[in-house]
Amino acid sequence: MRRDKFLPKKYKPVFHKHIDEIQIAKGIPKGYADAMKIVSLVVPFRANNYVVEELIDWDAIPTDPIFQLTFPQPGMIPWIDHERLKDLLRKDPTGKAASLAARKIQMRMNPHPAGQVEMNVPVEDKLILRGMQHKYNETVLFFPTQGQTCHAYCTYCFRWAQFAGIDDLKFASSTIDPLIQYLNRHPEVTDVLITGGDPLVMRTKILKQYITPLLNERPGNLSTIRIGTKALAYWPYRFLTDRDADDLIRLFEEIVTAGFHFSLMSHFSHPRELETNAVKSAIGRILTTGATIRCQAPLIRHVNDDPDVWAAMWKAQTGLGMIPYYMFVERDTGPKSYFKMPLVEAYRIFTKAYNQVSGLCRTVRGPSMSATAGKVIIEGIAEINNEKVILLKFLQGRDPDWVNQIFFARYDEHASWLDELKPAFGDRRFFFENRLEEIKAEKAKFEDVASF
Ligand SMILES: *Cc1c(COP(=O)(O)O)cnc(C)c1O
Ligand code: SF4
Repeated sequence: MRRDKFLPKKYKPVFHKHIDEIQIAKGIPKGYADAMKIVSLVVPFRANNYVVEELIDWDAIPTDPIFQLTFPQPGMIPWIDHERLKDLLRKDPTGKAASLAARKIQMRMNPHPAGQVEMNVPVEDKLILRGMQHKYNETVLFFPTQGQTCHAYCTYCFRWAQFAGIDDLKFASSTIDPLIQYLNRHPEVTDVLITGGDPLVMRTKILKQYITPLLNERPGNLSTIRIGTKALAYWPYRFLTDRDADDLIRLFEEIVTAGFHFSLMSHFSHPRELETNAVKSAIGRILTTGATIRCQAPLIRHVNDDPDVWAAMWKAQTGLGMIPYYMFVERDTGPKSYFKMPLVEAYRIFTKAYNQVSGLCRTVRGPSMSATAGKVIIEGIAEINNEKVILLKFLQGRDPDWVNQIFFARYDEHASWLDELKPAFGDRRFFFENRLEEIKAEKAKFEDVASF
């Protein structure tokens, strides 16, 4: 285990009300901070003392990638909305009118992308299985109630609607029992992915209440337990010096000793997040338990839209004993116009980064879109029969028959999501679209019970 020196820290959240303090302490221009405060009425904001003290380079703002990752930026909402909110705040200093207007702006920002609730929540015998999503045969997602927030918020978060209070937590479950029953009825499931938010904001005692029954009951064909988290990037002390950090490490050991594969699916957006002594020590400590750590993040303009940044990140991850896993395309939600990258640009960045690293880093796949039909990667750009095309491939499909199938879209410089692409060679539809509509119709039968 690495023994890099780090100072213990006590977690201190940073909210909207702290922006003025930070403005003064860090020398942010006053006008810029005022604009940030207005944007934070729309884009949920939360940072913490580790992010502010150790990750952000305050000499490099506003372009510093971690500042862009965590602090609301003036360009994230249209200027006209910005001016209107400013005006409302002036007329009604209680902020009520501005909050109402902010909610309307949020509702225009596609708070529920890719049919997550309508299409992924299982319904059996007209019973909705709250807190679960089952889209791909082998893997069920589980959302524990107390794990639906994060140690800091990414400005690009695709679950932002939850933090903004648009979604309530009916989406989540406070007990693991329904999942155990579900796994017993579904022998095709081998993996459970406990996710959020960030399940590691939960105290270990609570997390244990979800995990221990899985270890004792060994339901169905469960062989892998994964936890999705950004705690290594946003709060490595969770694994080091928090009151129950040692218990957490012991829980990881218990999972591995019980014979399960345990993978921490870690969200890292930038190599900066891998540089502190705290994160290096935390990674070392987790790996001593027999856990694996797989790394994933979306490609985001202003944060990591540079092949050298990805190459450095994959190298650092491998160097620290972790496994690069996915590069995602940012979903169509929230301040997407601020962050989005055209798909062909994403492909070029991925390829240029992939070119620079050894085979051990090339476990990474991408750029991948988690679309309604499945996880689709941009596999290449080519010219076939004098037509310039984009090659796409299913890594995961809502219908498992689609997995590993290649299909072709007309070349498009601007498209930034699957539904903006047109089939190549004059085809009217992509090969999967008829079947996808059938699946949608099957799900719609349950709409009366599934609309909660
Ligand atoms: C990405 C994802 C998974 C996990 O897919 P893997 O390729 O096995 O990592 C499972 N369910 C949903 C809904 C997903 O988006
Ligand atoms: S860590 Fe994940 S869930 Fe949390 S704010 Fe970032 S993207 Fe959203």
